[in-house]
Amino acid sequence: MLKCQRVLIVATKGTLARVGKIPPAVPVVSTFNGVEEHVPTVVVKKASEILISNKCDSVLSIGGGSATGTAKALALNHDIKTIAVPTTYAGSEVTDVVGITSDEVKRTVTDLRIVPDLVIYDSLLTLDLPPQFTLTSAYNALAHAFGALAMKNQNPFSKRYALEAISLIVASLESRNDRGLIDGSARDELLLGACWAGMCLAQVGTSFHHKICHVLGGSFGLSHSKSHASMLPFSVQFMMNSLFPTDIQNVLRDIFHEEDISKALINLSASFGFRPSLYDLGLMESDVGRAVELTFDAVSSSDARIEKNDVMNMLSLALRARN
Ligand code: NAD
Repeated sequence: MLKCQRVLIVATKGTLARVGKIPPAVPVVSTFNGVEEHVPTVVVKKASEILISNKCDSVLSIGGGSATGTAKALALNHDIKTIAVPTTYAGSEVTDVVGITSDEVKRTVTDLRIVPDLVIYDSLLTLDLPPQFTLTSAYNALAHAFGALAMKNQNPFSKRYALEAISLIVASLESRNDRGLIDGSARDELLLGACWAGMCLAQVGTSFHHKICHVLGGSFGLSHSKSHASMLPFSVQFMMNSLFPTDIQNVLRDIFHEEDISKALINLSASFGFRPSLYDLGLMESDVGRAVELTFDAVSSSDARIEKNDVMNMLSLALRARN
């Protein structure tokens, strides 16, 4: 029993109109709909003021990873219960991690207190995700799973979760119709896959791939899910060539029905109309050196062995992906 008596809703602008009426049994006392991507500290401060002035004892976040992340940032500094209703495939609702951005740097905080006390999954809330965002958000989830398979501290559970997540997500995306739409049951499977993917990230932490994406978002302003979708084929190419053992490579080839997983990821993404180039998303050739340095500042001892040159190559390939 959560015993929430004064609930603050945290969402992105426009979300509540999409979601419809909140059941009257939920004791909502205020709403903060100023959520922004990458969880800027100024936004957390505004939400925090509303939480305090309304004496809220709980936060109900409805939306993607940005809404969930804002609620987690609040839970870092307030003794509150949090309930997450995810509407994308970010998977943040099952992790103890939050990325908060200030002074153009996105810093990751890990703390068990921020794991939502309750998660409510309802795939009906994901039906209106546009095809391209469905794809990029699903690639964010895929990235958690591939990243978990690349971590030094992986374990038999994280490995199983990761492979199951990849299998569910790829099958759901492949079930699209020719307009890039996927039906309700595939949306259920996508949410489940995203949940498994989040669970492996929660177990082993974020990989070098994720750190690159945090730098692209926090320091260069690129969209989080689009950065994942642009980078993933090139990170996975490196993982397949240099990190994954043969048994994992073979399972992945079976899942994608393709020898070259990187090519399969590019083709799947193109079938949703997303052409992956970091340049299109706003990264400049001259930004790459700084992005490499910032990524390396965040690399931890659990990360796979990786050199600056490897990150430079991946970023350069993703930057010029259209040429
Ligand atoms: P988002 O939450 O920023 O949402 C992007 C846009 O999509 C918003 O305008 C939102 O209103 C809209 N939207 C959300 N759900 C929708 C729906 N069902 N239909 C139509 N529109 C919808 O995007 P995101 O990619 O889910 O989240 C990105 C953020 O999540 C980043 O800050 C990232 O760092 C964080 N994240 C954190 C973790 C973690 O474990 N801590 C994991 C993944 C992502």
